[in-house]
Amino acid sequence: MNTRRIGALIGAATLALTLTACGDDSGGTSTSGSGTAGAGGGSGAIKIGIKFDQPGLGLKDGNTYSGFDVDVANYVAKELGRSPVTFIQAPSKQREDLIATGQVELIFATYSITDERKQKVSFAGPYFVAGQDLLVAADSDIAGPEDLDGKKLCSVTGSTSAQKVKDSYPGVQLQNFDTYSKCLDLVVNGQLDALTTDNTILAGYAAQPAYKGKLKVVGKTFSEERYGVGLKKGDVALCEKVNTALKKMVDSGDWQKAVDANFGPAGFKVDTSTNPPKTDACS
Ligand code: GLU
Repeated sequence: MNTRRIGALIGAATLALTLTACGDDSGGTSTSGSGTAGAGGGSGAIKIGIKFDQPGLGLKDGNTYSGFDVDVANYVAKELGRSPVTFIQAPSKQREDLIATGQVELIFATYSITDERKQKVSFAGPYFVAGQDLLVAADSDIAGPEDLDGKKLCSVTGSTSAQKVKDSYPGVQLQNFDTYSKCLDLVVNGQLDALTTDNTILAGYAAQPAYKGKLKVVGKTFSEERYGVGLKKGDVALCEKVNTALKKMVDSGDWQKAVDANFGPAGFKVDTSTNPPKTDACS
């Protein structure tokens, strides 16, 4: 019952926000003109894309937003002198388009920096390094991606997680959804064998009261996911401002505070050999 309730809550939140996001689409079109006018970012209000259903990273609960991505986003917006912040749902597959069409100015949404994505957007950061892992039923004997042959695996369209499975584990039966939370109950009830995405996201789900004792993270990562801040392609000035803010967040200790506050409750151990990462040069 709890499981269903959480699923329903996440579903309702996602739906509510999808509707809000649709409402914003029309507004986004009219503001995109002014957005293009000023490289280096505008002033005043800012629209930022985050995930809405990833506890510990980006979660919408009523009008409250929480998670590591949210904390980093709020810190950067403050450093840029931009307020108020409006959070817009940024599902994996829609991220590049949300930026390209000016519906959001920045994206903090477990958004891995990749060469393919750099064709359409630019990235500040990285501000965190995660790794792809597997979430399975508590009694599963799947111990890593090599055990997935012939198994039913869940992931999300437009993610590096799904792409990695397609490229490296062709024997897997991959089923893609638009958000990761939709896979959870299917793994619990055995319709699917595993969910794959970043270890950060999986740890957040496994720690939800509804899933405690029912799901476990395998704990064997098989990729490096460098989380960047998505922004308009070629806006080097904005990218550099964001990087300055990210460096300040690390140097001041606020990055560590955000890590502890958001990953601590899930018992997620951050890899200190890769974190906090140095930012890349903007291009
Ligand atoms: N970090 C990966 C990506 O950017 C997986 C998580 C996600 O889909 O947000 O594709």
